[in-house]
Amino acid sequence: MADIIASARAEGRTLLTEVESKQLLADAGIPVAMAHLATDADAAVAAANEVGYPVVMKIVSPDIAHKSDVGGVVVGLEDGDAVRAAHAEMLARVAEAAPSARIQGVAVQGMAPAGTEVIVGATTDPQFGPVMMFGLGGVFVEVLKDVAFRIVPLEARDARQMVREIKGLPILQGVRGQAPRDIEALESLILKVSEFVAAHPEIAELDLNPVFAYEDGALAVDARVVLSEVAEPAGAGVGA
Ligand code: ADP
Ligand code: MG
Repeated sequence: MADIIASARAEGRTLLTEVESKQLLADAGIPVAMAHLATDADAAVAAANEVGYPVVMKIVSPDIAHKSDVGGVVVGLEDGDAVRAAHAEMLARVAEAAPSARIQGVAVQGMAPAGTEVIVGATTDPQFGPVMMFGLGGVFVEVLKDVAFRIVPLEARDARQMVREIKGLPILQGVRGQAPRDIEALESLILKVSEFVAAHPEIAELDLNPVFAYEDGALAVDARVVLSEVAEPAGAGVGA
């Protein structure tokens, strides 16, 4: 935990990669699709064999916040040959789209079954400090701004209210013959993220986008943690 944040700090980075972010979140008991860093094509195939097919491959770079924008996400890879081909193609696409980005490798993870996409996030408000956000994914957040906010730390009641106050709630409760989603699992995930953020004031921003909500359970398939800019601790100089 401390190691991941400390090494990012040592490198002067504030953006943690998906691999780093998910490691921190998993350690905090938050359900994530674990991402395994592979630094070359052979390692990517080995990781995929280990995880089991189908897999998802994503670019890992401390300079890339939105991986799909640079062709850095491929889903549904069915075997080792597909992984090898996708690896070469992804590196070529990213080199073209983001030529100055430092590339650590690719992340290999199991392909999660489709679920209802929701977003769980945290930002820092200059007045209130850390604030949690919850909404349905895609157009609901981006176009309709159908989101709920609460100031950290949350109580169980806050998480319950957040999930229930969005206009899109019927989508989680089950519409048109769709089975209801596990709202309790979402509440639990929101509370754990709130605890995690409260315990780590060095986190400025956190995005789980998307979290897949299932009939039974919920799983974050993407994660992004942003650290605050380093403030000089009062009276204690950092380095010489
Ligand atoms: P970005 O950095 O562009 O937000 P994401 O990691 O969110 O990249 O991946 C883009 C999309 O790919 C997600 O919105 C999700 O629909 C799908 N996806 C990502 N990871 C997985 C996974 N492990 N299993 C299934 N689908 C995934
Ligand atoms: Mg995402």
